[in-house]
Amino acid sequence: MTPAEKAPYLIAALKEAYPEAGCSLDYGKDYELLFSVRLAAQCTDARVNIVTETLFVQYPTLESFAVADQTALEAAIRSCGFFHIKARDIIAAANMLLTEFGGRVPDSMDALLRLPGVGRKTANLILGDIYGQGGVVVDTHCLRIANRLGLCQTDDPYKVELALDPILPREEQSAFCHALVLHGRAVCPARKPRCEGCCLGAWCDARG
Ligand code: SF4
Repeated sequence: MTPAEKAPYLIAALKEAYPEAGCSLDYGKDYELLFSVRLAAQCTDARVNIVTETLFVQYPTLESFAVADQTALEAAIRSCGFFHIKARDIIAAANMLLTEFGGRVPDSMDALLRLPGVGRKTANLILGDIYGQGGVVVDTHCLRIANRLGLCQTDDPYKVELALDPILPREEQSAFCHALVLHGRAVCPARKPRCEGCCLGAWCDARG
């Protein structure tokens, strides 16, 4: 089967296995998701959620992030790792959102990519989860499983996105990528995938 032929089956199987698949980061406001994703780089979503539970009380508005003392913000996010650059990016992004985007997270890829610390993965997540526009979010799980499934043959996240984008309907892209994260954690980790009983096994090139 070609990747395009497999796609409807994979979408259906993931929907059945993970009907509630969604973003595992906790947030209430658009910029909170943006900052949570920044904090999640090289960190677990669970750790980020612990940190932001307090952080979003300590800094309750976009304005409060924009004028944050860098050292104080670093201390608040320290356990997420890379706290110096993450704090710098969050403060800079808050200022840019206020001065250039009217205090809202923008709804276009080009505008999102101008924000400090924002790459295509984050931008696609925002476009899908905040604006319902879809977007292929290529994280480590998506990259690994898409290759194993035979949907692409590349370690380049952008090439994975380009391979998946045309075979996944836009309205399915966000849920598909969120489900791959759950599947990667539960069934198809980097080491020792549990192929027996995997809901995607019938369409997987790497099934063991
Ligand atoms: S069949 Fe195995 S390699 Fe393929 S997606 Fe399932 S667990 Fe991963």
